[in-house]
Amino acid sequence: MTIIDGKEVSAALKKEIAAEVEKIKAAGGKIPYLVAILVGDDGASQTYVGHKEKMCAEVGFRSTVLRLPAETTEEQLLKEVDRLNNDDDVDGFIVQLPLPKHIDEQKIIEAIDPRKDVDGFHPENAGRMVTGLPAFLPATPDGILALLRYYKIETAGKHCVVIGRSNIVGRPMANLLSQKGWDCTVTMCHSRTKDLAKVVASGDIVIAALGKAEFVTADMVKPGAVVIDVGITRVPSDKTKSGWKLLGDVKYDEVAPKCSYITPVPGGVGPMTIISLMQNTLKAGKGEIYPKK
Ligand code: NAP
Repeated sequence: MTIIDGKEVSAALKKEIAAEVEKIKAAGGKIPYLVAILVGDDGASQTYVGHKEKMCAEVGFRSTVLRLPAETTEEQLLKEVDRLNNDDDVDGFIVQLPLPKHIDEQKIIEAIDPRKDVDGFHPENAGRMVTGLPAFLPATPDGILALLRYYKIETAGKHCVVIGRSNIVGRPMANLLSQKGWDCTVTMCHSRTKDLAKVVASGDIVIAALGKAEFVTADMVKPGAVVIDVGITRVPSDKTKSGWKLLGDVKYDEVAPKCSYITPVPGGVGPMTIISLMQNTLKAGKGEIYPKK
């Protein structure tokens, strides 16, 4: 059994991005510039945006965090989005989710210029992805593909079971793995799936993205399967200084011995998500997905 080390892979890819930025600098080119909009004071969102800001500095990007109060109206946020869409200096930007309840998230996502949509959530990028056109891919599925690539895990002809059908993880993951080049036969499960345990047990590759701590148990996993655990659930713990710990969607201790490969939580998929965002920003800066105007 091999433990997939997301920290190692993300560190290797981070070096590659930093080297590219050095090359751009040396050639006198424009340094990629990422802006993050953060509305309100949700603790987890502040942490995520903080990590993104730090990573930008580490790879050599320019970045700005626009911190807006929780009372920001939808109209005001749309104005900010419009301003960033039209600011030629900004290569890509993200609006950190979730947004306060009074703002329609979908409306905001659709207002972002797809050329700058480095989260890959705009329907145009989703549509381009589904049809196999160059697109900004959503960071978590893209990060999982990078893990599979790094560990040279065979996917062609394998049965991949994805648990979860959200627009940011399960659905794009299932679609990408079914595409030419990855060539999996994919089953996408959700809360209405019948005989879920039986379906999961037929998977050569299992991607658990349902957000239910330790849901996938050893009896649900085929011997030798590749198990990718996307879930993150914070649970109280008297063994940590912070008073809480993170659990994945997979009961790691009992599932790991049955697997050929498995991602731990933390340290598996988590570190990859932010790297994919950096890669998308680099691509936006270089005009790789959409040529610069
Ligand atoms: P989400 O939007 O809540 O979607 C969860 C999906 O799981 C839904 O499609 C839901 O089905 C399905 N589901 C829920 N309970 C189920 C059950 N008992 N059996 C089968 N399917 C079930 O969550 P998400 O945004 O995709 O995130 C999933 C997990 O990944 C969360 O723990 C999140 O924190 C984590 N995550 C981690 C990263 C990372 O960087 N590591 C990034 C993003 C998300 P229905 O559609 O039928 O409701």
